[in-house]
Amino acid sequence: MKRLIEQSSGLVTALKCGVNKIGIARKLTVQERRLLLSVIVIPVIVSGTLAQPLARDYRRAHDRDILNEFTHLLSIPNIASDRENIRRNADFIREMMQRRGLNPQLLEGKSADTPPAVYGEWKVSGATHSIILYAHYDGQPVDPKAWTASPPFQPTWRTAAMESGGQVASLPATGEINPEWRLYARSASDDKAGVMAILTAFDALRAQNATPEVNIKFLFEGEEEAGSPHLGDIIDLHKQLLESDAWIICDGPVHQSGRKQVVFGVRGDQNVDITVYGAKRPLHSGHYGNWAPNPAMTLARLLATMKDANGRVAIAGWYDGVEPLGEAEHRAIGEAPAYDDEIRSQLGLAKTEGNGQLLMELINQPSLNINGMSSGDVGALARNVIPTTASAVLGDLVSVGRNRLSQTRGVGESAYADRLVLPMGDSFVDSRTVRWTEIRDLAIGAETVGFDTVWTADELLWRSAGRDPQG
Ligand SMILES: [Zn+2]
Repeated sequence: MKRLIEQSSGLVTALKCGVNKIGIARKLTVQERRLLLSVIVIPVIVSGTLAQPLARDYRRAHDRDILNEFTHLLSIPNIASDRENIRRNADFIREMMQRRGLNPQLLEGKSADTPPAVYGEWKVSGATHSIILYAHYDGQPVDPKAWTASPPFQPTWRTAAMESGGQVASLPATGEINPEWRLYARSASDDKAGVMAILTAFDALRAQNATPEVNIKFLFEGEEEAGSPHLGDIIDLHKQLLESDAWIICDGPVHQSGRKQVVFGVRGDQNVDITVYGAKRPLHSGHYGNWAPNPAMTLARLLATMKDANGRVAIAGWYDGVEPLGEAEHRAIGEAPAYDDEIRSQLGLAKTEGNGQLLMELINQPSLNINGMSSGDVGALARNVIPTTASAVLGDLVSVGRNRLSQTRGVGESAYADRLVLPMGDSFVDSRTVRWTEIRDLAIGAETVGFDTVWTADELLWRSAGRDPQG
């Protein structure tokens, strides 16, 4: 997407503002949080306005209306491959923008089955710069059978998070909304909340007659979770419309502490598939054990050579060329909340990797993850067998400056000759915004109008996860 952004942006600047995207659950307060996350960036460009308090007041005064519009949006199935319904989402968002006077239009791709992007604009007379606020309205595929508590496209309120025993309930029609309530639906967080928050932030600012110093363009994509295969086409076809100085991507997690954050880059991602082959057919372990090589054992041994006990990747050259963090990035990490102990406790981890280094330091290093592995059967299907194959998928997360192809090759070279190592699918490039310091300074300016904002260096980009337009 860095390439895609370059297509439409002279300065190749992209920020991500964080939103809660952990699973399907979202706090009721995420509505507020999302709203604030969106306006987080707008005060940077709104002159002389205390935008955040105004936006918060607006949200409090209009919470039922905001949530009504939001739950309607959530009730429309939004899997990118569901062509009919994904277009219903686009149409509904276009109507939302129409009501707001944002001159919306659907940006079609080259093929009729491409989910359209929904575009709108807030033109400011005399403005010479433009930014694009991006979110995506499609969601991850759903397995309806797995949604046993409530259906994915039937937005459902609970009195608290499910894991805390929250019960299904109707939202009281009046009164202060309990911030512990949760709204469950596919994309309630990732990333229809982004769409809703951006448009609500616009409402809040316009209600106060606040005017930005730059033109604001809105772009809501409909197949980000499918890897944005046609976003390049859409940008190509609508280049002039999408000209901008910067993109702000509203699609990412809040800081683990729950505080808002803006991140200035993504880590990149490349998956690798490894399969180790044994005998042509399963063998009885009692008859052939000690003689026929067991591919599961071979794979386990192979994977164990790739990382040491502290989580350091042991593949030769793995860290070569990693671009070190700069002074401003170190400062940002230093200013972030000390939260590692809390996260360890929340996750039930007795210890973490990295010899005491902080999470934020370590996510700026390339990693090597076992995403999954498989061989033979376990549980009720377990039997005395030497499996024929053993497979693993490695998530190869790349840091800025690192050549992911050479890393993939490194994995291959560390494997033995009789293993098959294949890069899987697209990779997602790493990047840092080229205007890190300048934008950070602007953002810190925004803090002086009341933001309790976390500014971090590169943030791990979720992968299944990881595809955001920056990835
Ligand atoms: Zn997303």
